[in-house]
Amino acid sequence: MKVYPDGRVEFGSSAVILDHAAKNGEPVIVSHAHADHTVRKGQILASRETKRLLEVRYNVNNCEGLSYGKPYNLDGVKITLYPSGHILGSAQVLIEGSGISLLYSGDIKLRRPSSCAPIEIPHAENLIVEATFGTHLFQWPRFERILDQIDKFIRDSLHQDKTPVFLAYSLGKSQELLSILKDFRLPVSVSKTVFQMSKVYEEFGIDLGTYTLYEEEEVVPGILVIPPQKARYLKLANPRFAMVSGWALSRNGSRRTQIPLSDHADFGELLRYVDKVNPRHVWTTHGYSRELASALRHRGYCASVLEEPPDPDLSLPL
Ligand SMILES: [Zn+2]
Repeated sequence: MKVYPDGRVEFGSSAVILDHAAKNGEPVIVSHAHADHTVRKGQILASRETKRLLEVRYNVNNCEGLSYGKPYNLDGVKITLYPSGHILGSAQVLIEGSGISLLYSGDIKLRRPSSCAPIEIPHAENLIVEATFGTHLFQWPRFERILDQIDKFIRDSLHQDKTPVFLAYSLGKSQELLSILKDFRLPVSVSKTVFQMSKVYEEFGIDLGTYTLYEEEEVVPGILVIPPQKARYLKLANPRFAMVSGWALSRNGSRRTQIPLSDHADFGELLRYVDKVNPRHVWTTHGYSRELASALRHRGYCASVLEEPPDPDLSLPL
């Protein structure tokens, strides 16, 4: 088996491409529908939910939809998708062939999600893990504390006669937020992209409560949810903003309220995740990949950064 930084994995004469554009027309496995993981050309394999999100979001019509847990034979290599708890349709990819197993995490969340399937963690001998928040600087507060922050932000805003506006990515974070806001029993308006993505969630039976499409009015009743890039163009008369993101923990001093609701694993959860997979070798990629690889080595793992040449002192099971 050989693993390359561009997402290519070779098992003997077979190749699997993970979340990257294929150079030779080979099939690509897309872990989930976020733009930094998605390709739009070539033969795409993804979960059924991701297939639908790609159709609606990017007009992709060349994707084959797979069910979680059902093995798929790709040129003699067994591919199985497992829920990763990140957004609707997000998947870890287990690849098995020539007596070797490799798990690609994609983006993962260990906290039980409100709007998608919870993570299921399989064992694999080799692991590629996304290190987005892979440093001790990131440790999420207890979920109840985040709910209290959301509640306080809404109450304070309404008390000041302002409209509480949550800035949340249109795919994933907005739907997680909508499922939380159901309990507040206030009218909720959402921007067009949030509305479109939410309708796909509902196609797959996810209850996001009642919400209406925001049509650029100056006044809306209750709460508004829009993606961050829309804030500067907002026509709303009296908004008060809260950014909803794991990066909130690194944004002390911002004028906006920061709510650290994340769809990613924090540092401790990443370590727990690797312990559960229990691999012989780990590659870290993206984000704080060096920091995470170093922490894993301290815990006794044979770990290296995918984008860097392997340490000659480490014996890698390649
Ligand atoms: Zn993602």
